[in-house]
Amino acid sequence: MINLNQYHNYYNIKPFLRGMIPKLTPIFGSKTKAQEVLLLLNDAKEVVRHGFYEAELPAVEEFCKDNKIFLIKSKFKVLLEDKDKIFSNKGIRIDENDPRPGMWFVYLSKDEKKALFASYAELTNNHGELGRLLGYPQCCIEFFCQNFNENNTNLELSPTNSWTNLSLREKDAVLLSHFPCSSECEESIKLAQKYFEVINKADSEYAKQLVISMNLSIPEQ
Ligand SMILES: [Zn+2]
Repeated sequence: MINLNQYHNYYNIKPFLRGMIPKLTPIFGSKTKAQEVLLLLNDAKEVVRHGFYEAELPAVEEFCKDNKIFLIKSKFKVLLEDKDKIFSNKGIRIDENDPRPGMWFVYLSKDEKKALFASYAELTNNHGELGRLLGYPQCCIEFFCQNFNENNTNLELSPTNSWTNLSLREKDAVLLSHFPCSSECEESIKLAQKYFEVINKADSEYAKQLVISMNLSIPEQ
């Protein structure tokens, strides 16, 4: 059990948090999910949202309980069209009692209301509100709202900027969890660099792996 509550000040990342990615990965199932939780614990994100299968939920729930993270589970499950593709964006909503093995969406936040609002925004297909709660830039939220529909579920652009590159996400090498409105979107680049900085302070070994796998060029301080 990893209990972070004995270290109250998440603003100054404690040495205890160093090397967190290898500790969080078995609980959350992937390095990218672990990275999101690390950003949440360090207040770089207010809400994170991920899909988990039933068998994965107990460990996630236990970690959140031990670390005072509120966890809200969606009222529906999502059946991915291509279940071998973890990052498939296509999925159909099914009832939570449907026996088919769907994924639950889980909304995590230190603020219970924000986790609840996020689950409600998703349930009511309020993409704009969900994007705001997840901390996405306004320009990218508008891009998503204008372009996303049933027949156009993957808004990934060809990557020309390593900070906003989503194409390596299935290899656990990604910083953003939204579709940038353009590869050169300044707000997205700034956000990715902010996330990298927090990750680098919390787990410099993992940050080094990201630099190599994403081919990041670190801006001069
Ligand atoms: Zn943008």
